[in-house]
Amino acid sequence: MTNASPDRTGPRAGLTSAEVPALRERHGWNELPRPTPPTPLAIFLRQFRGFLVLILAAAAVIAFLLDERIDALAIFLVLVLNAILGFVQEWRAETALDALRAMLHPVAVVLRDGVERQIPAREIVPGDVVVVETGEAIPADLHLSAGTDLRADESTLTGESVPVDKSAGAEAEDGQLFAGTALVAGRAEGVAVATGLATRFGTVARLTGEVGEKRTNLQRRLGSLAQQIGAGALAIAGLVALLGWWAGRPLFEMVMTGLSLAVAMVPEGLPAVVTITLALGASAMARKHALARRLQAVDTLGAASVICTDKTGTLTENAMTVRRFWTPGAAYEVTGDGYDPAGHIARDGTRVRAGDDPVLRAALATALTCTHATLRREADSWTMIGDPTEGALVTLAYKGWADPVPPEARIAEKPFSSERKRMSVLARDGDRLRLHVKGAPEIVLARCDHLLGPDGPVPLDDATRARVEAAYQDMAGDGLRVLALASRLAAPDDMDEKALTFLGLAGMMDPPRPEVAKAVADARSAGIRVMMITGDGPRTATAVARHIGLGAPDVIEGTELDTLTPEALSQRLSCDVLFARTRPEHKLRIVEALQGQRQIVAMTGDGVNDAPALKTADIGIAMGLRGTEVSKSAADLILLDDNFSTIVAAIAEGRRQFDNVRKFVRYLLCSNAGEVLAILANLALGGPLVFLPTQILWMNLVTDGATAVALGLEEADPDQMRRRPRRVNEPILGRVGLILMLCFGIYTAGASLWLFYTLLPSGTDLARTVAFTGMLVFEKVSVFAFRSLSRPVLSVGWFSNRFLVVAFSISLLAQVAVVYWPPLQTLLHTVPIAAGHWLSIATLALPLIVVPEGFKMLNQRRAR
Ligand code: ATP
Repeated sequence: MTNASPDRTGPRAGLTSAEVPALRERHGWNELPRPTPPTPLAIFLRQFRGFLVLILAAAAVIAFLLDERIDALAIFLVLVLNAILGFVQEWRAETALDALRAMLHPVAVVLRDGVERQIPAREIVPGDVVVVETGEAIPADLHLSAGTDLRADESTLTGESVPVDKSAGAEAEDGQLFAGTALVAGRAEGVAVATGLATRFGTVARLTGEVGEKRTNLQRRLGSLAQQIGAGALAIAGLVALLGWWAGRPLFEMVMTGLSLAVAMVPEGLPAVVTITLALGASAMARKHALARRLQAVDTLGAASVICTDKTGTLTENAMTVRRFWTPGAAYEVTGDGYDPAGHIARDGTRVRAGDDPVLRAALATALTCTHATLRREADSWTMIGDPTEGALVTLAYKGWADPVPPEARIAEKPFSSERKRMSVLARDGDRLRLHVKGAPEIVLARCDHLLGPDGPVPLDDATRARVEAAYQDMAGDGLRVLALASRLAAPDDMDEKALTFLGLAGMMDPPRPEVAKAVADARSAGIRVMMITGDGPRTATAVARHIGLGAPDVIEGTELDTLTPEALSQRLSCDVLFARTRPEHKLRIVEALQGQRQIVAMTGDGVNDAPALKTADIGIAMGLRGTEVSKSAADLILLDDNFSTIVAAIAEGRRQFDNVRKFVRYLLCSNAGEVLAILANLALGGPLVFLPTQILWMNLVTDGATAVALGLEEADPDQMRRRPRRVNEPILGRVGLILMLCFGIYTAGASLWLFYTLLPSGTDLARTVAFTGMLVFEKVSVFAFRSLSRPVLSVGWFSNRFLVVAFSISLLAQVAVVYWPPLQTLLHTVPIAAGHWLSIATLALPLIVVPEGFKMLNQRRAR
């Protein structure tokens, strides 16, 4: 279905801005209705699913039938309150993820008013001339007007994973590109014939990107931990209840004891707390310009042990400026910055222009013809659209006053790819045809047999080849990216890249990003290896590596990598290495070899062919600005600023997340352990119930959740980036966690039972209220011990986590209400307690702060 049928080979000028509003009015925005998000009511009702809720509902019914109406009501109210808390958390997670999704808006290049402009893809209207580069998603259904040897991946539409050939002027579907698919080879220009809902791909959901809903490793592991504990809890609770009943205790009391036990053991809040922590973690990362497409990324990132990174644009700015130009007859210096042509080319200190120097003139003609980059003056500054490497060469040509090349002079093209490392264009040169080639020096030079001298082409001898090679190495040694330019006269359709005439070498500067050196140092001190994988030559790569603090790593070139056996590669990978002159498929080999060494690999990529490596890596990282849509959809993490230091910041954030998850898991389980031990010990002692089921529900569901979420928001430990990466399957609870559970459990159980039994002679309700309040206070107070397992709270700062202070205060105030406010007294069967009781509780709570703090201080002193 199409909603317009403009002329297939419509004017290259595209639409004018004035035409757009009417077309938009008629066809609407180029977007699809978003799937409706779950309504608040649906999210609220979702809270009533799950096993625990069923048990509690059953308990409420049993209590009701046994005429314990108040208990039934209390359980019901706790259920509702729990649902409200769950709702608030899920709602926050949902809105946080929504904000992330909104950041994935795609853009497209269209011709408006005769110039190429980048606009949000949703603004395309039928009739727009759209330009699509390799690796980009097709933003609307297009009739091709230019582009040959194109290939499109239409698997989203057809399920067919082999790319299909496309070409301008071809019949039917071969001459069209469809929205939602991706161009995987070539550069296409086409007229939009259908947009938004009218496109064949009725659901371009993929274009807007997806922030995955998949459960993360951590969520799964914690989910199954909670399930196992839940099943065990039920079995134990059932057994205890039966035994008690069999020993002659009243049925209702035993049902309630069993229920208390089950409720006390199950870490109910866990899954919800993990989800909200990861979602808030993802938002925190996005604020640092790292967009997690899957929550999984947040969790794996913290365990990353190797970062394999591209050089251009990630470690460097990808703002290329040609600084030197060299021909066998002369060396030139180039002034000026960026893409502003306000500099000049000088030879021995004297300005030269294309008209003064035939070799320079020929070279600049190739620089200006063999390109897709364009420079445009806007207000007072110059902007470049296209590839920065090409932009730098075009700027050079402007600086040298090269003759302009009209677009129609270009007849055919063999595009640049990281595999070929060169590009050729066949173009008119007066009444003749000329093939212009530019690319990596060794590749272009190998295809040259002449060089251009002042009087025309002369054969290229070995001595001159060696001089070219030396000049190349000299420029590369200074960290310049070097491209060779060559050309020759050609016959029509003659695109053979051989027998070329060498013209010269352009050395361009791409400055390292200023913040990268520190990020590299941070990564290294965190035990994370940084490996540069670049398409650039070994010398350029080594110079940049040195500059950013990667030392002088061993260099493995792509051609050598091809010959290495897996064992040899694995061995080489155990020292510091960098990879130069690689092709995209090398990345996959490198990832696999590193994974064979049980490393957790973060791998960056931007091109179509990087997708397999991004998918295989533990954390695939795509570039938000420069990356192709194909690479973005294969990645787990998108760098919104393409910046290496963002990866390191994201890893730090991932480590913080994992630490915090561990903190609250340990905290929650320690709290539960105290309750369980108290109930079991009390059963053995034979006294009345120490806590009522509703009281336990209150502690676990209402107050613990809030403190746990607050722990999840704890700031990073300052030494977290000085530790080695954790193993990916490192247990969350671990031995330390189990020991803590025992210590805290035994102490809090003992203390609350002591309160209970000393007060029992004054009445069960009073004793129980004090024991219950005691346990709650112990749990709240012990949270400070979990804020950091290594640093005393004194150095963490008592008030540094505002959320925790708020959660702590609210929980305590709520408990005061429970003890003194009649409606809550009725619901939770409490009675008022005296100041002396509070004092006893406070005294017993003191060791929960003092002892862990003492331990940490001792440890710190020992470590020093
Ligand atoms: P990195 O892998 O560090 O990001 P890169 O991706 O820029 O580097 P490639 O794009 O594979 O590396 O480029 C490899 C080589 O190909 C460059 O060193 C350069 O010599 C040559 N080259 C780069 N861009 C072009 C281009 N547009 N046309 C022709 N040759 C190019």
